Amino acid sequence: MKPKLHIGVLALQGAFVAHAQALRDCGAEVQLVRTHEDLNGIQGLVIPGGESTTMSNLLVASGLSEVLKDIFRHGFPVFGTCAGMIVLAERILDGRTDQISLGALKIDVRRNGYGRQNDSFEQDIIVPSFDTPFHALFIRAPVIEAIGPDVEVLASWGDRPVLVRSAHALACSFHPELVSDLRIHEMFLSIVENFSVTNPR
Ligand code: GLN
Repeated sequence: MKPKLHIGVLALQGAFVAHAQALRDCGAEVQLVRTHEDLNGIQGLVIPGGESTTMSNLLVASGLSEVLKDIFRHGFPVFGTCAGMIVLAERILDGRTDQISLGALKIDVRRNGYGRQNDSFEQDIIVPSFDTPFHALFIRAPVIEAIGPDVEVLASWGDRPVLVRSAHALACSFHPELVSDLRIHEMFLSIVENFSVTNPR
């Protein structure tokens, strides 16, 4: 039997419980991450949805922002959803002036970019690598407005990317942890698996 992957879920704020459950349902071992020490032994990190301005405050106050920037610079696998994607972005539009981001993914995102009437909506999206559409829940979701040359678009809705990745970072503007479909979490686990093979501890 393959050894279980050890995955951290940033648990400062937001929908971390649902992510932890989805990862366990995929067969991973989960570590909730609130301090620097909690990063020991994990092979990848999930940053959940929630409120990116609050997460920004807590990342700075806990000292995790600098540590995370550093490990992501060295290619540590990370998956950000909704507010988590904002936290990973290189540039935040319509953010609070003191809001930080970790710059793990070369994307520009606009907070609450889907606007008021569309505050929250559900949409079946086509992910070309999946056999059937993925039912995506968008909740005050950020819009990806620009992507860097090393960023691959894995799915779009309308003319906007909604699921993107670079070598080690995966992000989506919706909430895959709130549906029972595990395919996007499995996609992240295969990124972690490949990284762990090429970077054994
Ligand atoms: N609008 C929220 C923010 O700025 C994100 C919403 C979400 O994660 N569902 O952080």
